[in-house]
Amino acid sequence: MPRRNHTLATRSQRSKRKSRRPIASVDPGAKRRFQHRLLKWYLEHGRDLPWRRTSDPYKILVSEVMLQQTQVDRVIPKYHEFLERYPTFRDLAEAPVEEVRETWYPLGYNIRPLRLHSIARETVARYGGVLPKNPDELLSFKGIGRYTAGAIRSFAFNEDAPILDTNVMRVLHRVFIGAGDPKTQKAVLWALAEALIPRGKGYDFNQALMDFGAIVCTARDPYCLLCPMKDFCKSYPFESG
Ligand code: SF4
Repeated sequence: MPRRNHTLATRSQRSKRKSRRPIASVDPGAKRRFQHRLLKWYLEHGRDLPWRRTSDPYKILVSEVMLQQTQVDRVIPKYHEFLERYPTFRDLAEAPVEEVRETWYPLGYNIRPLRLHSIARETVARYGGVLPKNPDELLSFKGIGRYTAGAIRSFAFNEDAPILDTNVMRVLHRVFIGAGDPKTQKAVLWALAEALIPRGKGYDFNQALMDFGAIVCTARDPYCLLCPMKDFCKSYPFESG
């Protein structure tokens, strides 16, 4: 997770940030095909996950924090248990931190429940228990980085905000770049993640990207022969070194 600035950015800081952003150059034909085929694939193969049945920013945040280091099948039961015990930011904020840590067990990476608890307290103290939409305000929370802010904006507030987790980074790098180490190309990949979103479809597009990376374009042995992107993917056929 990238480290973030915990104070609100000023207007000039924001405009400097924008001017430094790389421009993603994508072949328009490949972009259209990728968008169309990804959304079609998602319609047929997308996973039915509990956090896709809600737009509550609190529940989306809980799921995103749990998913940061843990597989989906381990997260699902804990997600339900956690929300039953702490259904709102206020419930979580009022709970003793030690109890929250115990409820989190056995998910591991125990900094995560502490961060979640601190976000809940801040949300109650600064925003009356309602998470803000504004990206700079979201990024001002300790524990909310660029990925999580994008996920909240896109999955809770239905905005066309980009996300870039490990799965998304792998898919975009393989399809549109095909060379070098994706970890050293994050700025370009973020720009790609933003440029590729079809207008008004950020929610489905981002969910589809994550599923596609988890199911088809997997880290090892991706299903290239059956892949709908194979005729323009820059890594086809992918061979792990
Ligand atoms: S062709 Fe292979 S490497 Fe390219 S997107 Fe499909 S699964 Fe991934």
